[in-house]
Amino acid sequence: MKIGKWKVKLLPAVVFALALAVLRNVHSVPSPAVVTVEVRVKHGDMVVTGPLEEYLVGVVAAEMPADFAPEALRAQAVAARTYTLYCMRSGKHADADVCTDYRCCQAWRGEEDAEKLARIRDAVYSTAGEYLEFAGQAAFTAFHSSSPGFTEACGAIWSELPYLVSVSSPESADSVPGFVSRVDIGVFDLRDTLLAACPDADFSAPPEEWFGEITRDESGRVSAAVICGQVFTGVKLRELLKLRSTAFTVDCADGIFTFTVTGSGHGVGMSQYGADIMAMDGADYHEILAHYYPGTKLASLNLSS
Ligand SMILES: [Zn+2]
Repeated sequence: MKIGKWKVKLLPAVVFALALAVLRNVHSVPSPAVVTVEVRVKHGDMVVTGPLEEYLVGVVAAEMPADFAPEALRAQAVAARTYTLYCMRSGKHADADVCTDYRCCQAWRGEEDAEKLARIRDAVYSTAGEYLEFAGQAAFTAFHSSSPGFTEACGAIWSELPYLVSVSSPESADSVPGFVSRVDIGVFDLRDTLLAACPDADFSAPPEEWFGEITRDESGRVSAAVICGQVFTGVKLRELLKLRSTAFTVDCADGIFTFTVTGSGHGVGMSQYGADIMAMDGADYHEILAHYYPGTKLASLNLSS
């Protein structure tokens, strides 16, 4: 089945909101110069094939507030384009290039008001075809919401990459809503959650003694914590306890564990709030990308009009 520029495969009985929203975007704005690359996007059980740049409009809309500075939105557009090209090369999904699950690939949304959509489209089309290259290939341009002063090295979570090292990031509690968050967990809830993941942990000691040594990496995030004789990684604790990042401290009082968490996201690659502050301080998107992905270089796909 073919609808406009989009070929829809595995189409369910009712045309999905995704396809409708994409079509609305495609048809409502005059076509600027577009990259000829097409991308297969998996959304639930459906795969939609369409122009890369149109897909990126929906990614930037979902991944970054539209009122961020234009140069931050451009940096986001290039990071999202690069990540998409990386996924296309890596064969992450058997039946598609990327999916719309933010936990797996990149978020995507088709609804946006006209003013915000104009800002996002400008960011995507003013950088059309531009991506970051390392060693001749599209880089793994991970990004996240905010960092506690420094980004995370890729090797702390995934494999080491020379352009995903820990770098400074300028955001703070003054510039990021919810920069410092707090999670309270009752001692029995904490015990049950950790036991479910690690049945060998011995919780016979008083709760105040459950947490042993906490190891932090160079960015200040928790790399590991000894709890009741067992080692939990910071990444695992973040997942189990639903913390916004691995940059946390923990206290125990009156039967409650209190986790105080700084920043949001895995911390690897570009910080979106950091990018916005850099842009407001005068940096252009080249400078923002060079800061968060050092050693990569800006490249361009062939364009056609
Ligand atoms: Zn995916």
